[in-house]
Amino acid sequence: MSEYMQSLMNQAEQDLLHTYNRYPVVIDHGKGVYLYDVDGKKYLDFVAGIAVFALGYGNREYNDALKAQIDKIIHTSNYYYNEPAIRAAHMIREVSGMDRVFFTNSGAEANEGALKAAMKYAWLKDHAEDHEIVAMEHSFHGRTYGALAVTGNAHYRDPFGEMPCHAQFAKFNDLASVEACINEKTCAVILEPVQGEGGLQPATEEFLKGVRKLCDEHHILLIFDEVQCGMGRTGYMYAWQRFGVKPDIMTTAKALGCGVPVGAFLMTEEVAQNSLKAGDHGTTYGGNPLATAAVCKVLELYRKDHIIEHVNEVAPYMWAKLDEVAAHHKCILEHRGSGLMQGLVFDRPVGDIILKAMEKGLILINAGSNILRFVPPLVITKDNVDEMVSILEPAIEEVE
Ligand SMILES: *Cc1c(COP(=O)(O)O)cnc(C)c1O
Repeated sequence: MSEYMQSLMNQAEQDLLHTYNRYPVVIDHGKGVYLYDVDGKKYLDFVAGIAVFALGYGNREYNDALKAQIDKIIHTSNYYYNEPAIRAAHMIREVSGMDRVFFTNSGAEANEGALKAAMKYAWLKDHAEDHEIVAMEHSFHGRTYGALAVTGNAHYRDPFGEMPCHAQFAKFNDLASVEACINEKTCAVILEPVQGEGGLQPATEEFLKGVRKLCDEHHILLIFDEVQCGMGRTGYMYAWQRFGVKPDIMTTAKALGCGVPVGAFLMTEEVAQNSLKAGDHGTTYGGNPLATAAVCKVLELYRKDHIIEHVNEVAPYMWAKLDEVAAHHKCILEHRGSGLMQGLVFDRPVGDIILKAMEKGLILINAGSNILRFVPPLVITKDNVDEMVSILEPAIEEVE
């Protein structure tokens, strides 16, 4: 590592709040599925900024669309209409089958809005002020208070006092457990169709269909957090589309803007008509012309470049290759996930493997301490998968 890179890292550790244990690299730029650090070292990227940069780095059309929008206008306010937001909302409706869209700046903020919509929906029915949400163990919905309240990891919640809404935590893929959590105060169930942060765990068809049925029977709303598993990652634009189990409210972010911070919560017309009204919710930046110009271009490129078809071609290949890796190493207990969202569960923390891989030019990330997470740009090729495996195997061997 150059002195220059070391000095940048030292500076960062003096100035930035230490809420992340960062890996020892200063990223400079990206090209396709490769990242380059400030010393010019090249890395194959199987993280994509945590499932964000689906289209790969330096996509000419995407970059040009953003530059053109910057020269026109970057920000207005939601008190005025803007063309990119209007187009983006319509395009998201088309790919999601949902009816109404509210743009946010992040996944957590999208979940905040989803929870407020569900609370207001229930409040309009009975004016009770103690509604509860049923969420899942090992879920992750973001770090703001509302999102944290439904995040199924007590370590994330415990230091931060009373949560703004009361959540009951059910076991993922266990319908009886969800049913046991539902009571007369419950207003919604929130879950990720494929759990990301919590360990790359897909919901079964039976579970999703069962939860939908429970929600209908109890007249409560079903919220899907598609922040990580959405946008084509599982081989469907949204993961719930695999089983046709449609939510009442859903959230999307991460790959939605492919790097420009943008998210959204979406709902059916029925929920829209009976929840948030003018004055109930807002955001200064959410859906600004720069962010929504990115959304428009991303959705256009998904269609034009057949991104989802590509995922369905490469994902089974990555599955087979990681299955082989798992078969070669006793320390790997399980291989799970969906599409280009896969995980290898180890019998030990994976931090050292990630560091070894990084030394050898491969960027990987964990999900929890014992799981290696693979969420590459959706444009990776089978050759990229082979290259990844050729670095991963020796990295595992060195720590074994
Ligand atoms: C990343 C993530 C979030 C939070 O998104 P931010 O943009 O970091 O606020 C919420 N839900 C899921 C499933 C995520 O993976």
